[in-house]
Amino acid sequence: MRKWYIAHKDLQNARSKRWRETHKERQLELCKIWRANNKERQSELEKRWREENYKQILARSRQYHKEHREERIAYSKRWREEHPEYLAKNRQWKAEHPETRSIYRHNYDARIKGNGGAHTLEELNMLFVSQNYLCYYCNKPFFDNTLNAEYHIDHKIPVSKGGTNNIDNIAISCPSCNLSKYNKTADQFLMVGK
Ligand SMILES: [Zn+2]
Repeated sequence: MRKWYIAHKDLQNARSKRWRETHKERQLELCKIWRANNKERQSELEKRWREENYKQILARSRQYHKEHREERIAYSKRWREEHPEYLAKNRQWKAEHPETRSIYRHNYDARIKGNGGAHTLEELNMLFVSQNYLCYYCNKPFFDNTLNAEYHIDHKIPVSKGGTNNIDNIAISCPSCNLSKYNKTADQFLMVGK
């Protein structure tokens, strides 16, 4: 049997490859039908998957951005030149979404302190999901599950103590926790309480 297998290895490999290929399409088709019939279940599964995998997703997305940096810069520069109306719209959008301003401000503050690090709105959104939309410190729910809710971006290790502005040093907290935490670290604050 083993001899036969070795002698026919190529044939076997080709055969199973063909099998996989022909059944892949059928498999994909079945998945598609299932998804169409189970939309709610699907989005629930996707949400759970994101929650469980958000760290890997972040790492992968960071890696991707790092590898495609030049490409992305050139692309967005070209795109902006071709869409002059974008600047005006962008300005208006920023005025209507103060939460992104606070991201810029935090990135800016951390840079000024020389601690470095930066996070994006996307990372912040994923962090919010991973916190189950609750305050990191007191577990109080925000009034809605979007980043339009009133929240503070808290540095677990304060910027004043050398904390970076990377997402792993960020906690989304309610204003009252953030303000009473002041310049304690997250661990100190959680231990001492409010
Ligand atoms: Zn809180």
